[in-house]
Amino acid sequence: MSSLSDIGTIRDIMQRHGFSFSKGLGQNFLVNPSVCPRMAEMGGAKPDAGVLEIGPGIGVLTAELACRAKKVVAVELDDRLIPVLSETLGQFSNVKVIHGDALRLDLASIIRENFADCGSVAVCANLPYYITSPIIMALLESRLPIESVTVMVQKEAADRICAPVGSRESGALTVAINYYSEPHMLFRVSPGSFMPPPKVTSAVIRMDILPEPAYDVGDEKVFFRMVRAGFSQRRKTLTNALTSGGFLTREEAAQALANASIAPSARIEALNMDLLASLSRSICQLNNKK
Ligand code: SAM
Repeated sequence: MSSLSDIGTIRDIMQRHGFSFSKGLGQNFLVNPSVCPRMAEMGGAKPDAGVLEIGPGIGVLTAELACRAKKVVAVELDDRLIPVLSETLGQFSNVKVIHGDALRLDLASIIRENFADCGSVAVCANLPYYITSPIIMALLESRLPIESVTVMVQKEAADRICAPVGSRESGALTVAINYYSEPHMLFRVSPGSFMPPPKVTSAVIRMDILPEPAYDVGDEKVFFRMVRAGFSQRRKTLTNALTSGGFLTREEAAQALANASIAPSARIEALNMDLLASLSRSICQLNNKK
């Protein structure tokens, strides 16, 4: 087990490198020694796998991934951590650290260039919370050749992501994630497992990427515009939500809902994936007739 979760070791590293935590970069480092081995085990780190990590910090999860996977590429934004990572991960010949912003880098090229000789590719990360939704969406939408995405996020975000589509807890992110993958709640992590402790509980989730989306939505652009329009006014009836942003006219909304056998007074949060896909196809048919 890596000693990088040891508070004394972290303090020593911080002191020697003149490092202090940046709240803005979501820097809460794991100090609970049981979390990273569990995450690595459940997050697709296996002997023939390549693992992409986002935000390695001082490398506590990276070390556990490196012990189990063929190759690990870790993307870290904070330049102050690059010399720290050279020191803490120096013993691993299968780790590459890339200095950059995971939201701006071409992750497809990184995967292609680094994991060509790997049997599978997984993403595993204790995410800075401010990039939770954009990074998950970027990973899913770009159809990267990855098997799974295992991330630690705030428990509230994990609950929303893993809620059944068609329940009150679900949202646009839930729908998108269920379109591209099968999400699983793995385990919770208490605030005391981090240094400094965040105000909220965290949870680790894994999204198993589907080889092909499981639903025929007609046109993905139309589907996601519909989902965004519906959830941006989630308490309104679908007729009102789909028309208020100018997405559909009242006549089109009525026709599309009728064709999909959905009541005009229904709310988007009550529709499961089959009904959402059916409504999207019905809107596409109207568009095709224009
Ligand atoms: N993996 C370490 C751990 O579990 O202790 C650190 C996790 S900490 C929650 C998030 C890390 O992501 C920090 O090291 C932070 O500097 C880094 N980070 C923040 N924004 C980033 C971005 N846009 N791209 C890459 N790394 C980022």
